[in-house]
Amino acid sequence: MNGVPPPVTRFAPSPNGRLHLGHALSAIVAHDLARASGGRFLLRIEDIDGPRSRAELAEEFRRDLAWLGLTWEEVPAQSTRLSSYAAAAEALRARGLIYPCTCTRKEIEDAGARPGLEGLIYPGTCKHRAPDPARPAAWRLDAAKALAETGPLTWEDALAGPQQVDLSGLGDVVLVRKDLPASYHLAVTLDDAADGVTLVTRGADLCAASHVHRTLQALLGLPVPRWHHHPLLMGADGEKLAKRRRSPALAERREAGEDGQMLAAQLRVQHLALGT
Ligand code: GLU
Ligand code: ZN
Repeated sequence: MNGVPPPVTRFAPSPNGRLHLGHALSAIVAHDLARASGGRFLLRIEDIDGPRSRAELAEEFRRDLAWLGLTWEEVPAQSTRLSSYAAAAEALRARGLIYPCTCTRKEIEDAGARPGLEGLIYPGTCKHRAPDPARPAAWRLDAAKALAETGPLTWEDALAGPQQVDLSGLGDVVLVRKDLPASYHLAVTLDDAADGVTLVTRGADLCAASHVHRTLQALLGLPVPRWHHHPLLMGADGEKLAKRRRSPALAERREAGEDGQMLAAQLRVQHLALGT
């Protein structure tokens, strides 16, 4: 033993659509990285988006993962953790690190917002105005203020190496949605800390989000994991497989009698060819 504790990884699917090949790869990468060194692999159902989340899909996901030959420990779903999101949001609000924003998507477009890494970069319209209390408000991170508080931050990607936190590609992201007590960014950061995840694995398309998560860890005094953003499987046409709803869902392949462990083996080979 070299004294480094074995990693804790997780797969965190949202039950608002069926799992496809890209999800299978994410789950396999997380599972294998944990198992390779005697670590733990967690499953967390990210069902915060109540109206779009379907309990029967969570059950389908468990069958899909078992079919792929994976074993896991399941931790509580996001819907059971709403009070921790509210408490963290309140702490950020009390420190003036988030501000209310009543803008609609149309207003943000009309304000001439530039495209960023994940859609438009919020142009800051609400940062310097009192919100209209009659309109529903989301709460956005004041990225400039956050940076001033944290100073320069770094994070470590197992594949890409050391990264300098840079929020300029994302801007003042939403941390509390108009309709929910958290956004993906706030919920996933708090949950990974609460679950003791030490190696956050997910597709390279979510790499930009890690800059926000690292910032939140610094602001909220949370432990800092390592990250492993794996290359995405691409279809022959260059489209991301995870996003391609036309390709058969894992559940359809399973129900058609395909061998899931064989599929998992094929995905491992493809993944190696992509450069781990
Ligand atoms: N629920 C998110 C998704 O399915 C999890 C992303 C992540 O691993 O951080 O995209
Ligand atoms: Zn606004």
